[in-house]
Amino acid sequence: MHYGVAAIVFSAYNEVMFSARLKNLHPYVPGEQPDDADYIKLNANENPYPPCPAVIDAITSLAGCSPEALARYPDPDATALRTEIALFLNRTGGALAQCTVQNGQCIPGAGHELPVPITPDMVYCGNGSDEVLSFLFYACFDAGHPLVTPQISYSFYPVYAGFYGVPLNTVPLTEDGTPDADALVQHANAADAPVLFANPNAPTGGALSRAAIRAMLLRTNRERVFVVDEAYADFAAESVLPLVAEFENLVVVRTFSKSMCGAGMRLGYMIAQPRVVAAITTVKNSVNHFPVDALTQAAGIAACRSDGYYADCAHKIVALRGRFAAFLNAHGWSVLPSHANFVFAKKDGMRGADVYRALKVSGILVRHFAVDGIEDYVRITIGTDEQMAAVEQAIARMD
Ligand SMILES: *Cc1c(COP(=O)(O)O)cnc(C)c1O
Repeated sequence: MHYGVAAIVFSAYNEVMFSARLKNLHPYVPGEQPDDADYIKLNANENPYPPCPAVIDAITSLAGCSPEALARYPDPDATALRTEIALFLNRTGGALAQCTVQNGQCIPGAGHELPVPITPDMVYCGNGSDEVLSFLFYACFDAGHPLVTPQISYSFYPVYAGFYGVPLNTVPLTEDGTPDADALVQHANAADAPVLFANPNAPTGGALSRAAIRAMLLRTNRERVFVVDEAYADFAAESVLPLVAEFENLVVVRTFSKSMCGAGMRLGYMIAQPRVVAAITTVKNSVNHFPVDALTQAAGIAACRSDGYYADCAHKIVALRGRFAAFLNAHGWSVLPSHANFVFAKKDGMRGADVYRALKVSGILVRHFAVDGIEDYVRITIGTDEQMAAVEQAIARMD
């Protein structure tokens, strides 16, 4: 039995026990998290593979061999973890699917190396990248500077904008679901505003090249932050990490939730110039001094050292994504080009809500957004070979 915490209905806010600002909150609605393990769960872009064995060892040996570490507060600044993240990024270039793996070690693909190494003082770690984004909103955006962001993107951005009172200046995506580089630049320059977008974009999967983003950075005000959310960059997109040394205003947000098989660990991070990291740390120390717990710090360090394992997972997902998109095309679906661990697709002649329901009846959970312009689409996370074979059978039955 699952005892959910219902969001309070609006009328209850009129009670005197709640603050006036509570009325203005419009919380994020995540994909369903059923207790029922019978569903094939492809609705939250989680990785279908478990964390690597070294991560499990790190957690069990911390709890078993150093239980006092759980009685004490963790390192508030996660220094060992930040050091390991910097080394991990310097080895992989921030694009796991572009790496080749030799003897369990990643070698970055040609053109994906970092020209200047990332140092630990350029890394900030938080309780999921959602928290990192929240602190960034607090530190860098305000009512005076509307935030330029794509119209269809990660649905947490408007939630934070509402929470922090930041007006949004939204820009349509291109036809194929990619952030529109020229239009974003025009809006940013017209409003002298900061920019935030996910690359690859969610929920569409389209991605801009590093060269295109570099051209955007060259054309916009270097005194306004320019945030690229790289939650999915490890799945065959290009990372902008090689540009961090060149552009002081570039902030890159990343997560262990997708490519690092760690959504349950709640670990996200940001790469930026040390003064931005210092600003976010000030916010953190004003809200929650210890956002990353001791077990997660140990697990994150072990995950970083196992880059080859995670690159193998990314390679499997990317290969299967291509085969699955081809399958969908062959069955009369339209599929947007994806550089992420999901596809955004619609079945011609069928409503998205009906596709969602038909798949759910077959025991498959996908994500449908009742949002104008994308209501005919569903977002399907790429799972294991076995899971995708089951999805393909269910989809073939819908022909
Ligand atoms: C999943 C996702 C996140 C959130 O990741 P967490 O680290 O789990 O909080 C951030 N941005 C985008 C675009 C995502 O899809």
